[in-house]
Amino acid sequence: MKSDIDKYIRSAQPEFEAKLREWVEIPTISAEPEHKPDIERGAEVAVQYLRSLGAGAEAVPTPGNPVVIGKFVTGGDRPTVTIYNHLDVQPANEPQWQRPPFIFHKEADRYIGRGSTDDKGPALTALFGARYALEQGIPVNIQFIWELEEEIGSPNFEHFLKGRAKDFATDSVAVSDTIWIARGKPAVAYGLRGLAPVRLVLETGTKDVHSGVTGGAARNPITELCQLIAECYDARKGVVRIPGFYEDVEKLSKAEMDNFLASGFTVKEFKRAHELKKMREGDPADIASRLWARPTFEVHGIVGGYTGPGVKTAIPYRAEAKISMRLVPKQKPDKVLKLVRNFIKEKNPDVQFIPESYLSPYLGPRTGPYADAARDAMRTAFGKEPAFVREGGSIGAVVTMEKYLKAPIVFLGLSLPEHGYHAPNENFDWEQASGGMKMFARYFETLARLPF
Ligand SMILES: [Zn+2]
Repeated sequence: MKSDIDKYIRSAQPEFEAKLREWVEIPTISAEPEHKPDIERGAEVAVQYLRSLGAGAEAVPTPGNPVVIGKFVTGGDRPTVTIYNHLDVQPANEPQWQRPPFIFHKEADRYIGRGSTDDKGPALTALFGARYALEQGIPVNIQFIWELEEEIGSPNFEHFLKGRAKDFATDSVAVSDTIWIARGKPAVAYGLRGLAPVRLVLETGTKDVHSGVTGGAARNPITELCQLIAECYDARKGVVRIPGFYEDVEKLSKAEMDNFLASGFTVKEFKRAHELKKMREGDPADIASRLWARPTFEVHGIVGGYTGPGVKTAIPYRAEAKISMRLVPKQKPDKVLKLVRNFIKEKNPDVQFIPESYLSPYLGPRTGPYADAARDAMRTAFGKEPAFVREGGSIGAVVTMEKYLKAPIVFLGLSLPEHGYHAPNENFDWEQASGGMKMFARYFETLARLPF
């Protein structure tokens, strides 16, 4: 890589900040319908920006929010890389915001505002990296896909990509929407968990009844659901008790575990960051594998009965448990859901099992040319070998891209835990942005040399 990249990055700082300001100050909140005009405006600004850099760009309409696409085509005989980011943001209603969330604020080299790190800052960083690579004449085609519905589970992304897989023919994809474990310790994610949400509903009557009159005889749907949940899940050990649930879960290799532990993960910091008072076990290897490579069975809420002050002695007639399972690579959501449904029907046939739409897990390359290119780019930009880790969450668009683009997907995230994903006072910083530009530029340069 040419030495003038540092000069390019330094001189790009004011422009980067101005663009990030412009993006952050458009409240592209996908969860709140009244922000639809902001979504449209955000897409328009993004298109204009891509065009001003010489890309072919448009906002492609979907039944929901548009998807912005941009293409820098340098030649048909060159490899193509597609960069995915999203430009919609989480709502920002938390009372802990110290400033208005949609007024960009710069404090030294820190950029504060909703969307700064998730995911507008990284999107812009990738674009600046691409601009440098293209100015240098790096022989590579670069395409951008900027979604505006990621934060609401990408309901129309498949609709968008389905008929367009040919337009987006690509040799590889890079997704920049993941978080390192600690500052100064670059991390490349290579796996995501899937998500299978389910509601369990039990009705044992049509109205609440008096426990002095019916108690002991009437079935109580809350206690029955609690018993059923305890049969499904051992909360003391944190283990799912449904036979066959772990059948397709792969054991981690030693190299994978070594990487998890080299990522900067510590139990102490994990507890502090999430304000957890007590945990089941203190072993970092166990906890890291539980977070990234083991499935879950969580109860998010039980609804039913009396919830006012004191105790009211009514027996409810209806209860609902809200459950989700995070699934790991090789687990098939359909298969797991069938297994869980059968188990529940066997234990309590009156419980209605109502699955909601699911996301599949994803496992990307940890070795091979693209993983090596990511490793080299991170090391070049940040001066340290990255750890290959996984994410405990799910990104629906990744699974959709895997299905239609059929290309390796690499995660080149830049966010840090202290940037506050989905949290008040969200921020991004110049250290990650400037390093990120270098990382992307180097990554493109390496891809240009790969046989394709
Ligand atoms: Zn995001």
